[in-house]
Amino acid sequence: MSDYDEFEMATRAVRAGQQRTAEGEHSEAIFPTSSYVFASAAQAAARFSGDQPGNIYSRFTNPTVRTFEERLASMEGGERCVATSSGMAAILATCAGLLQAGDHIVSSRSIFGTTTVLFSTYLARFGIETTFVPLADSGSWEAAIRPKTRMLFLETPSNPLTEIADIKRLSALARSNNCVLVVDNCFCTPVLQQPLALGADIVIHSATKYLDGQGRCIGGAVVGDSELVGKEVYGFLRAAGPTMSPFNAWVFLKGLETLPLRMQAHCSSALTLAQWLEQQPAVVRVYQPGLASHPQHELASRQQTGFGGIVSFELQGGQQQAWTFIDALRIFSITANLGDAKSTVTHPATTTHGRLTPEQRADAGISDCLIRLAVGLEAVSDLQADLAAGLAALES
Ligand SMILES: *Cc1c(COP(=O)(O)O)cnc(C)c1O
Repeated sequence: MSDYDEFEMATRAVRAGQQRTAEGEHSEAIFPTSSYVFASAAQAAARFSGDQPGNIYSRFTNPTVRTFEERLASMEGGERCVATSSGMAAILATCAGLLQAGDHIVSSRSIFGTTTVLFSTYLARFGIETTFVPLADSGSWEAAIRPKTRMLFLETPSNPLTEIADIKRLSALARSNNCVLVVDNCFCTPVLQQPLALGADIVIHSATKYLDGQGRCIGGAVVGDSELVGKEVYGFLRAAGPTMSPFNAWVFLKGLETLPLRMQAHCSSALTLAQWLEQQPAVVRVYQPGLASHPQHELASRQQTGFGGIVSFELQGGQQQAWTFIDALRIFSITANLGDAKSTVTHPATTTHGRLTPEQRADAGISDCLIRLAVGLEAVSDLQADLAAGLAALES
């Protein structure tokens, strides 16, 4: 919580969390220091015992990291934020802080691939089992809950098919089953969706994506209340050490300042391109929550204040057509990252979802001719012309 909580999102994005030093610096300072000096032995003892607040050691307290944490907490409407070294570290810290052997997770099956590996390979080794369910089917969530279920986990919109989960509904299900609802808010960011206000207990971020916004640093964050996040997740961070560096925190702070403006531009260009793609004869189907044809357009309109920068679509044909299209693009970078000023293009079936069996891919709706765009900040007319050149290459 910060001094700016009563202000609008764009104001919090620029102002929240900053505490100037005696130097009066206007921009946030970077504190590259691993430890802090105490005025006396008694003060050292008081800091270590927790009787006196203050910095001890940068594995768990650093002023630049704290500024980032307070700004993001203010934007998500959470009491506390814990910054981590990556988005995956944020997910691990949440699970390790809140779960124990014997506990059970119900997770959307449409989540970031590495999260699936973390749950089904590594958490499983420590006696935490996960059941994966279809994101948009509330009945499957309910049916998968067991007496030992302690966590529901999801991303919405999903990647790459932009399915939407009803966060309010799942939060009621979590509450009545004594579970925490964890939402990975990477695709929307707090600018487009605030899961805590919809009843989620924890919000996860890969700061690597839109929060940075220019593809520079790896980082993550966990946001929630002072008990779950301030005590349990923070306790794990302090003991295990997947800490965000002050330099990265400073880059993310600068990213947050422009996040509301950038998200507006990502959303607007993505919708323009999605609508244009829908009219192209070589395009079979377009996935974007802002399209009236999206099966959950109404839910997305209620739950989000914008539809996001991801557009996926299917071409006629198979892998060869998809690769020909991708290789003909000049502007879109062929890379799996997203949330960058630079637009990116991915062929999910042979990259992000390449480790799945053909049956698993079919189950997840990832066809060989599916293409995912993460629309960046270039001129939308240039991006559209680039996509048109890609489609033209299919005809030659
Ligand atoms: C990238 C990503 C992650 C992992 O974040 P890293 O910063 O790469 O560790 C988690 N969830 C989603 C939705 C992501 O896109």
